[in-house]
Amino acid sequence: MATVTLRLYDYLALIAGMRETSLSFPLLPSVKHLAEHMGIPHTEIDLILVNGNPVTFEALPQDNDRIALYPRWHHIPIPHLQHDPPFPAFVVDVNLGRLAKFLRMLGFDTLYDNGYQDKELIDISRKEKRILLTRDKLLLCHSMVTWGHWVRSTAPYEQVREVLDHYHLYDQIHPLSRCLVCNTPLHSIEKGVVKDQLPPRVRQRHKKFFTCDKCHRLYWEGSHHTHMMAWIQNLQKDTIP
Ligand SMILES: [Zn+2]
Repeated sequence: MATVTLRLYDYLALIAGMRETSLSFPLLPSVKHLAEHMGIPHTEIDLILVNGNPVTFEALPQDNDRIALYPRWHHIPIPHLQHDPPFPAFVVDVNLGRLAKFLRMLGFDTLYDNGYQDKELIDISRKEKRILLTRDKLLLCHSMVTWGHWVRSTAPYEQVREVLDHYHLYDQIHPLSRCLVCNTPLHSIEKGVVKDQLPPRVRQRHKKFFTCDKCHRLYWEGSHHTHMMAWIQNLQKDTIP
């Protein structure tokens, strides 16, 4: 038997439910598989140290090695294992529909369909360079998944905050820029063109309108928009720069 000591930092310890443990195997697997054995998908790990030296997921530990796993720590210069896609775009697992809608409200390109199968989620993430957001840790352990995040919170508002914090997205928020129903970018439209479709109160109160070319829904800065903006401003206030 060969034994290694595994030390988990920050929220990786929460995922695994422990901070440090010893693991014994007849033949030690790669660090990626050791982490998965502890329930930690590779997408959550940003730095691996074996006896103090940075290694990759494929590294094969030896007997008595000390392995330390770290999540993303943006503020320290480390040899990062995680590289984000060129722009923040998401594909969201079927049980996170409200999170998907909130991300669209904030203007993020977010694919969601409550009929997606696991294989589709993985394929879309890979082909379209989208971050896969899921509550299913096993899905993220799939070796074809490059970008992904295990959403820890179960409350939709907290989930949004978690994603914005994790990927540092506060300066990329563009409300009223994407259709909540079909994810298509919105464009502004003259009030005169749409005035016959508006409820009388909306026609009286609002000047700016936006529309979706795909599903033809109309959007305006109504009370829902005002609440959302107040909520975002609160989130930003609470965020440590
Ligand atoms: Zn639409």
